[in-house]
Amino acid sequence: MTDASSAALVASAQQHLVPTYRQRALVLDRGQGSRLWDSEGREYVDFAAGIAVSALGHGDPDILAALHEQADKLWHTSNIFLSEPPLRLAEELVAASGFASRVFFCNSGAEANEAAIKLVRRHAANAGRAPQQRTIISFKGSFHGRTLATVTATAQPKYQQGFEPLPGGFRYAPFNDVAAFDALFDTDVAAVLVEPVQGEGGVVPAAPGFLAHLRARCDEVGALLVFDEIQTGVGRSGKLWAHQWDGVVPDVMTLAKGLGCGFPIGAMLVAEHAAQTLEFGSHGTTFGGNPLAAAVARVALRKLAAPGLLANVETQSRALREGLRALDEKHQVFTDVRGRGLMLGAVLRAEFSGRAAEILDHAANAGLLLLQAGPDVLRFVPALNIGADDVAEGLARLDAALTTWRA
Ligand SMILES: *Cc1c(COP(=O)(O)O)cnc(C)c1O
Repeated sequence: MTDASSAALVASAQQHLVPTYRQRALVLDRGQGSRLWDSEGREYVDFAAGIAVSALGHGDPDILAALHEQADKLWHTSNIFLSEPPLRLAEELVAASGFASRVFFCNSGAEANEAAIKLVRRHAANAGRAPQQRTIISFKGSFHGRTLATVTATAQPKYQQGFEPLPGGFRYAPFNDVAAFDALFDTDVAAVLVEPVQGEGGVVPAAPGFLAHLRARCDEVGALLVFDEIQTGVGRSGKLWAHQWDGVVPDVMTLAKGLGCGFPIGAMLVAEHAAQTLEFGSHGTTFGGNPLAAAVARVALRKLAAPGLLANVETQSRALREGLRALDEKHQVFTDVRGRGLMLGAVLRAEFSGRAAEILDHAANAGLLLLQAGPDVLRFVPALNIGADDVAEGLARLDAALTTWRA
């Protein structure tokens, strides 16, 4: 008989998977709301949500109903033929975006950014710009994905080393530094690609006025402003789109993570003036706009845009911030808690620099699934419908984890 113990499954992972990930040695078996159970029956509070993906928690009944209904009808058509779910989703995304007129569907965040990179290059080409006049500026500490072009946009050497030669035409500016940005900005810039809150880079919100400055500079030279809202979008920041906090409108916006609540989907939204850039034959993907993914994302978008849900993000964000402040008073571990909505980072004090991973181990042992954003930041990205009880229980388990870690 096959050995299905978690030890056997962990051993199998170590033997059969390309070792790109270092998974925790526990095997998740089922989930409900913001709780998860492993194959040994241990229960966890979920402050990770599959890396800011499971925005409605696990087992949401409306998502399940939409998935089951579509699964019984039609799974896949390719883009040679139309089906209703992706068309409705495109209409709904356009209406909800407030700026876009068209959508391109794909399957992941990296693919959405890849589409955006191709779009801005083609847009510059159509404007008569030579290849060396199609520079894309992105920011140090950013994260935009792992394909060759998106990892080049990701201005962190650790993601790029050994994959050279990298595609050309990218330039990196320090995040939140207007003067340094201006020094790097020139008429050769075709686009600026930026996360309204840097996620993987440590949960760092754009400083007040920074996005507005990027908007103004782009407009001066006819460059496109691209917001990567793959992590910040669909409610995570407490507004439907994180850029609404700054009142700055992009030309292109990319989405993935929370949009499918765990079902793979990505999307690129484009404003009318650039919406015809990728013409017939210029780009595509077999699975993009898959009816199953679209049926799920329609429900996700409707529920995540609801005022009650967004109010819950703000309420639980405050509860989490207050809880972390109280934990810091007790354990003296954090220098700062930053971020927006339910995308928060607790920065470790200098004396604990590099030790976030240890705390994650103690948290898992205490029944709390938590993430880090770099070696010095604990990252909190729970489901956006998490309740006060689960926030309180998660904080209590973090308290226990910090106690054993400090002991
Ligand atoms: C996760 C993430 C990506 C990459 O998404 P994948 O689905 O892993 O390809 C890109 N940008 C941001 C801001 C992200 O958080």
